[in-house]
Amino acid sequence: MNGIDGKTILISGASSGIGEASVRELAAAGARLFIGARRADRLQALADELGDNVAWRPLDVTSPDSFAAFADAAEARFGRIDVLVNNAGIMPLSPLAALKRDEWARMIDVNIHGVLNGIAAVLPRFTAQGAGHVVNVASIGAHLVVPAAAVYCATKYAVWAITEGLRQEHDDIRATVISPGIVATELGHDITDPQVSDALKGWRQQALTPDAIARAIRYALEQPEGVDVNEIIVRPTAAN
Ligand code: NDP
Repeated sequence: MNGIDGKTILISGASSGIGEASVRELAAAGARLFIGARRADRLQALADELGDNVAWRPLDVTSPDSFAAFADAAEARFGRIDVLVNNAGIMPLSPLAALKRDEWARMIDVNIHGVLNGIAAVLPRFTAQGAGHVVNVASIGAHLVVPAAAVYCATKYAVWAITEGLRQEHDDIRATVISPGIVATELGHDITDPQVSDALKGWRQQALTPDAIARAIRYALEQPEGVDVNEIIVRPTAAN
């Protein structure tokens, strides 16, 4: 047993990027994975490729009902839930002065409410079984703010705080923040400001590949029960 073998792990945002890479990494480590996102075709293809230990269901993390049904389906399929990886997130960056209120609201809904909906879906089970692990994918933006990223960073500071609160409130539940620097994924595809979109392309010239973050998640999960890895920050070596 490597601390992951045979565990049931739920992952949100598994249809691309860090989530997809984590599914591959954890499946290779022997986990049973229940994966969710809105793009069902991608989940289906990933599950078909990886075999019977990977099952999927469409998930919209902004809906408490969708997340509750997702957790119920995971338990029905695999018998229990050991880990939730709250990975889904969006990053439509813009300067505050652009007043893109709809994009602020969407970020808050996916990045904060999505994490809380996930915690609500598993916490009663974790409390009842006296064990569980919540891994929340925040960002280096949980530690510093860059131009055009005020609201995105605010959501990630919130994810950091929620994880720390969860850790303090439960002696038998592990809580981990994963804080990536720039990673080459689809994140930011929905940026509507051309200047910010160009800036992101520049940042991405020094980007990690998603497997680097998947390995960090695997490291946190494979520790013995008494070891709670509270945070891992992973940046490209050349990042300033
Ligand atoms: P991607 O855009 O590749 O992946 C984001 C995932 O979130 C997709 O699978 C998407 O699936 C899912 N998602 C978005 N909205 C919802 C929703 N309402 N319900 C369910 N799933 C949703 O980006 P990354 O892999 O980079 O992002 C993963 C996490 O990593 C995010 O939390 C992001 O903030 C964080 N991060 C990324 C960094 C980077 O540089 N890439 C740096 C720091 C942190 P679908 O559209 O199918 O629903």
